[in-house]
Amino acid sequence: MASIYHGFSTDDHPQHQFCPPGPDSWCFYKRSIGEHLYPSGHKVRVHTPLNYNLLHQHLEPIYNWLTSIDLLRRCELKTTQNPNESFHHSVWSRCSKKNFHSLRRVQFALVSAAAEHNSGPAAISAIKKALGIQEGYHGHRLCQQRAKKRLYLSSQEQQKKAKKRKKMRAAAQEKARLEKEAEEGGPAYQAGMF
Ligand SMILES: [Zn+2]
Repeated sequence: MASIYHGFSTDDHPQHQFCPPGPDSWCFYKRSIGEHLYPSGHKVRVHTPLNYNLLHQHLEPIYNWLTSIDLLRRCELKTTQNPNESFHHSVWSRCSKKNFHSLRRVQFALVSAAAEHNSGPAAISAIKKALGIQEGYHGHRLCQQRAKKRLYLSSQEQQKKAKKRKKMRAAAQEKARLEKEAEEGGPAYQAGMF
């Protein structure tokens, strides 16, 4: 919330209520107050100025959702970063974030990336079909290649995870064996030991 309200702030209407206080604050306004100086200069010092009248009705609901306890609870397991990054990669590969794109292009990039992320490359063919766009030979082939690559990467990932699980299980068994040995005051009986 600090990040948008800091951006909405102007000299006439500072809105730094969410910014951290004190002389060490990243917020120049709160820092000035912490140092007992008169805070001003929003025009130069707010690096991402946001027009409150134009944007707050659109941005505020998103920020409310992003900071809601409900959503944060769902992120507690910390397993959301990789899927999120993978999804973002699909979006930015369709429309680079370094260049300006039309709203239509951004919307199409988001929708097609979400479809592919959730249902695989075949979803793109389904979208084209629904829109009445004939899929050419190369488009079809590309789709199949992407599906194949996706399956391969997924199986590699699964193998890696299975190996890690196996290693952890073996380490836990070894630890339990050593603890049991220590409890019994010597090495336990094992086949071939005597
Ligand atoms: Zn601030």
